[in-house]
Amino acid sequence: MPGESHHSNEKPSIVIIGAGFAGLSCARALKDARANVTVIDRHNYHLFQPLLYQVATASLSPADIAQPIRSILKDQANTRVLLGEVTGIDRHNRQVMVNGSAVLFDYLIVATGARHSYFGKDQWSEHAPGIKTVDDATRVRADILLAFEQAEAENDRERRKALLTFVVIGGGPTGVEMAGAIAELARNSITRDFRSITPHCARVVLIEAGPRLLPALTPSMSDEARAALERLGVEVRLGEAVTNVTPSGVTTAKDSISARTVIWAAGVRASEAGQWLDTPTDRAGRVVVNKDFSIPGYRRIYAVGDTAAFRMAEDRFLPGVAPAAKQAGKWVGESISARIAGRIGPGPFRYADLGSMATVGRREAVARLGRTEMKGLIGWLLWSLVHVYFLIGFRNRVSVAASWAWSYVTYQRGVRLITGRSAPLPEKFEEAA
Ligand SMILES: Cc1cc2nc3c(=O)[nH]c(=O)nc-3n(C[C@H](O)[C@H](O)[C@H](O)COP(=O)(O)OP(=O)(O)OC[C@H]3O[C@@H](n4cnc5c(N)ncnc54)[C@H](O)[C@@H]3O)c2cc1C
Repeated sequence: MPGESHHSNEKPSIVIIGAGFAGLSCARALKDARANVTVIDRHNYHLFQPLLYQVATASLSPADIAQPIRSILKDQANTRVLLGEVTGIDRHNRQVMVNGSAVLFDYLIVATGARHSYFGKDQWSEHAPGIKTVDDATRVRADILLAFEQAEAENDRERRKALLTFVVIGGGPTGVEMAGAIAELARNSITRDFRSITPHCARVVLIEAGPRLLPALTPSMSDEARAALERLGVEVRLGEAVTNVTPSGVTTAKDSISARTVIWAAGVRASEAGQWLDTPTDRAGRVVVNKDFSIPGYRRIYAVGDTAAFRMAEDRFLPGVAPAAKQAGKWVGESISARIAGRIGPGPFRYADLGSMATVGRREAVARLGRTEMKGLIGWLLWSLVHVYFLIGFRNRVSVAASWAWSYVTYQRGVRLITGRSAPLPEKFEEAA
């Protein structure tokens, strides 16, 4: 598609980079626009990231939380989907570089999300993977399951202990949910599968550098989450910054923990969009945008979702959560659609804060809906309803809801498969070979 353009038929060309929550909502809002819309993504699927940790802990399979972008947009006649890695943007010549070719645009929406940030210690990424994509989650799932497999065959006490120690770094929602899910996996789901080890003896450690878990929630909800995790047997360490991560474990300012499996849930950094656009970014690398999500000086180039820094008030930015990304994407799509049609666009963007929630295992959650706070089983039921509702919003309602609810409630870890990674024999067998 070198030098390809839609200008020939005089309809404007709208290019959306990224089919995450923001990009997809934007594309959907453009469905009736008199325009040629192109959605570009490096994956062929849209991913429901909030449930990724359940793939990583063998509760759900990737197909439950991802759907081909092409099939989501198949009925949208003005829209085509391109699978490709965007490597740059020429904003002056209005070109997006993808797979080594140029795609021309009249309007551009950059919605490429965020990636992990290791705060300058990128070498830790090898030993402490984060979960952001399906591949990440299946890798972590394999790591966790392999650790149990290797521990089953390990006679050395210290090595077995390290194999059965799981460290999660970062006490935000992902870290809390991940630590709770590993503890449940160990204690409830696979206890009867092994003979030589007792998986409920697994040690799960959650390390947070800040003074409390879930800083987006109130202090009492943070305490509640901590107590719920401790009831599951998770060791919660607050105010303890990680100073090193190696293949043998984690070091903090206070301690050294031998662990074979370490998971990173501590920080995110925006995509490379700021560099591509050569425009100001904030400290997290997010593109600073105007009140209409356009970038300074370019009224037809927008950044939305996790990759954008949208100031709502003096010291408050639009949060990096799925509802914010969806609302922003939809708003920008509607604005462009109105502009092309010569209509008055939607009023100023207003974020509807739907609240915040995190689950701790399968019986408890903490949730804030507006000013109402919920915890325990009620919080968990609310969490489940919200997630099932949004999840089935883009997949077959009945089958997904049923299979998800069944495996979730009955502890049937039907997806406890080790895939996507060569499964080495336990070390003692390797040594003997
Ligand atoms: C593990 C995890 C748990 C989360 N839990 C919650 C939660 O419980 N509740 C909540 O509200 N939010 C949660 N979030 C945050 C939420 O998922 C994000 O805020 C949301 O996904 C942001 O949407 P986005 O469209 O900006 O980016 P994304 O959804 O990340 O989409 C970005 C898209 O851009 C594509 N892309 C990136 N770079 C390129 C490139 N160079 N070329 C082509 N395509 C590219 C990606 O493939 C992806 O499809 C969670 C995030 C993670 C990782």
